Amino acid sequence: MTETEEKTGPPVTLIDPIDMTKLDPKFRNDISSMPNGEELSACFACSTCTAACPIANQWDYMPHQLIRMILLGMRDEVLSSKEIWECLTCFQCQERCPQKVRVTDIFFDCKNLAAEEGHVPENVLALGKTLVDKGQLYEVINDWEREDLDLEPEVPGLSIEGIQSILKSTRTGKLVEDGE
Ligand code: SF4
Ligand code: SF4
Repeated sequence: MTETEEKTGPPVTLIDPIDMTKLDPKFRNDISSMPNGEELSACFACSTCTAACPIANQWDYMPHQLIRMILLGMRDEVLSSKEIWECLTCFQCQERCPQKVRVTDIFFDCKNLAAEEGHVPENVLALGKTLVDKGQLYEVINDWEREDLDLEPEVPGLSIEGIQSILKSTRTGKLVEDGE
């Protein structure tokens, strides 16, 4: 369109229309009945959480929108969103919320619910698998780094079998097993 052409058609909207038939009113109660959700309904949509968030400008749904979506009962959209998994857990939003809404902790609860319903991104599952298989997330692969620091090649006292046995009896172990 050239600069002189006038725009026609409906006005551009910032968000998609909400399909009311897909709302789950129970979702709001599921989250607010958890220990982190007590202040959820006190949210007055001020967007302070979003202003504080260092990654919100990369997201389709920003923190204040996710909180609003929970309040509205948009269960599927929230639990299948990539944003809850990309949260840096820096707690900037939660620290600044004037209504004491536990934004970061609520996103943890959402992740737990999402995992129970099988919505776990592949990269998160891969991390879980590394943890269960190797007993640690980050392996020392450059022996020379330890050598430079005058350390023995292997990390001493790391019982991979012990860690594996504990992990396999946890929800993380089960999640990885089910995802294989
Ligand atoms: S800062 Fe708190 S009150 Fe404001 S929108 Fe975010 S959660 Fe709601
Ligand atoms: S905890 Fe997550 S949602 Fe909150 S400010 Fe940090 S990255 Fe953003």
